[in-house]
Amino acid sequence: MLFRECELDASIQKALDKLGYEEMYEVQQKVIPLLCAKENVVVQARTGSGKTAAYLLPLIQNIIWEEKEAQALILVPTRELALQVKEEFDMLSTYRRLKSVAIFGKQPYKFQIEDLKQRTHVVIGTPGRVLDHLKRGTLSLRSLSYVVIDEADEMLKMGFFENMKEILSYLPVNCVSCLCSATMPEKIQELIMETLPNAHVLHI
Ligand code: AMP
Repeated sequence: MLFRECELDASIQKALDKLGYEEMYEVQQKVIPLLCAKENVVVQARTGSGKTAAYLLPLIQNIIWEEKEAQALILVPTRELALQVKEEFDMLSTYRRLKSVAIFGKQPYKFQIEDLKQRTHVVIGTPGRVLDHLKRGTLSLRSLSYVVIDEADEMLKMGFFENMKEILSYLPVNCVSCLCSATMPEKIQELIMETLPNAHVLHI
């Protein structure tokens, strides 16, 4: 299926054309309609499957430009992945002029706080630093409509699991969730049962 056959905003189609994305990958064909319909999704897929664009495109499609507070939170295990996801988000949303901020540890708080004070549509961050900002009151999730947990199994390996669970307690009730993981260890399965019992589970 082609991206052109989906009902994506013209500004998104323009960005896809610029990037040369024509044909949707399998994960994109399955995930995009579900997230656009505000359904929770669990995706078991590897890096390289196209999962990043699969969860980013519905966010970009549905974000309300005028809203001042963050509408989407993307949790990732590493600084490298945060920057990579930010880069893809910025490319795909370039013609919608959406603002993203990447926040991760070992960086001064000052610049992150200044960034978060501006209109920010999407926050991409590692769990430790995101939780610090929530506790300091420098990040609010009151207006959040999407949360993505990317590479959940890596978060577990790196000891971020408890932080991640604590962040989930800050989410508003109607927030749509997408959890991506290459493998499904028991702890991740338990988290899914506790927090996403009604999610569509896709194995790519
Ligand atoms: P990911 O699994 O999200 O890390 O994506 C793997 C790579 O595929 C990235 O370099 C993307 O830019 C690229 N990509 C994602 N979706 C498409 C698509 N539909 N057509 C062409 N390239 C894509």
